[in-house]
Amino acid sequence: MADVLAEKASPAAGPAYKRVLLKISGEALMGPQQFGLHPPTVERIAGQVVALHDLGVEICLVIGGGNVFRGLQGSAQGMERTTADYMGMLATVMNALAMQSAVETLGLPTRVISAIPMDEVCEPYIRRRAVRHLEKGRVCIFAAGTGNPYFTTDTAATLRASEMSCDAIFKGTQVDGVYDSDPKKNPDAKRYDRVSYDIVLQKNLKVMDASAIALARDNGLPIIVFSLDEPCGLAGIVKGEGRFTIVEPG
Ligand code: UDP
Repeated sequence: MADVLAEKASPAAGPAYKRVLLKISGEALMGPQQFGLHPPTVERIAGQVVALHDLGVEICLVIGGGNVFRGLQGSAQGMERTTADYMGMLATVMNALAMQSAVETLGLPTRVISAIPMDEVCEPYIRRRAVRHLEKGRVCIFAAGTGNPYFTTDTAATLRASEMSCDAIFKGTQVDGVYDSDPKKNPDAKRYDRVSYDIVLQKNLKVMDASAIALARDNGLPIIVFSLDEPCGLAGIVKGEGRFTIVEPG
C-alpha cells in the first residue's frame, strides 16, 4: 500500500506534501454518540492534527456540520431549503470552534475563518490573509462551508484546497478507503488502492459529492481517503504509511 505514495515520499524521507487540507465530516466528531460533539473524540483528532504539524506540514481544516444539522434534513421536514442550509453552515462554525479549542489546548495556534462574516467569533475569509496564517504555521480552520446554500462542505474543502494551493485533500472517514459498495453491508465489497476521478463519478462511488470530485479533477487535486482510526494516524498516512485510497487522474 505504501508504494502508492512512495513515489512522492517514503516514511524515512518525511511527508510527501508541504500543504494539505484535511476534511472531516461533522459525524466524525460524534464518537459513540448519535448527535453533537464527543470531547474525547475531538481531542483525539486534534492530536492527529498536531502530530502532522510537527512534521512541518501546513494544515487547512474543513469540518462538516452533519453531527448538528443538515440542510436536506431540515427541508425534508418542511423548512425552506436555503434557511436550512444556512443552519447547516452555522453548525460547521460550532464544530470549527470546538476543534480550535482542542488544537490550541495542545499548544498549536489556529485561526477559524468563516465564509459568513461573524467578526466577534472568528475571522472573515480573506484568501491572502489565510495564506499568511499558513506560512506562519497556524492551522486554518475554514468554517461555514462555501457560504452558499445548495453546497456541501466537501465542495468547500475542494474550493479552499484549490484557493490555498494545497498539494492534496485528505478525507478522514470511518473506513480505510474507497469501496465499490458499502463494506459494512457487503462483505464482498471491492476496495480500491487507486481510482480515477472519472470512475468515481461514473460509478457514483461514495468519496465526496460529484461537484467536489469534478472541482478536484479540474484542479488536479489528489484526494486521499483514509480512516480516522488508522493506527499510524494522519501523520503516517501523509508519509505514505497505512491504508488509504488515492483518487487521482486516470
Ligand atoms: N452547507 C451549505 N453550503 C456549504 C456547506 C454546507 O449549505 O457550502 C450546509 C448544508 O445544509 C449541509 C450542512 O451545511 O447539509 C452541513 O454540511 P455537510 O452536510 O457537508 O456536513 P458533513 O456531512 O461533512 O458533516
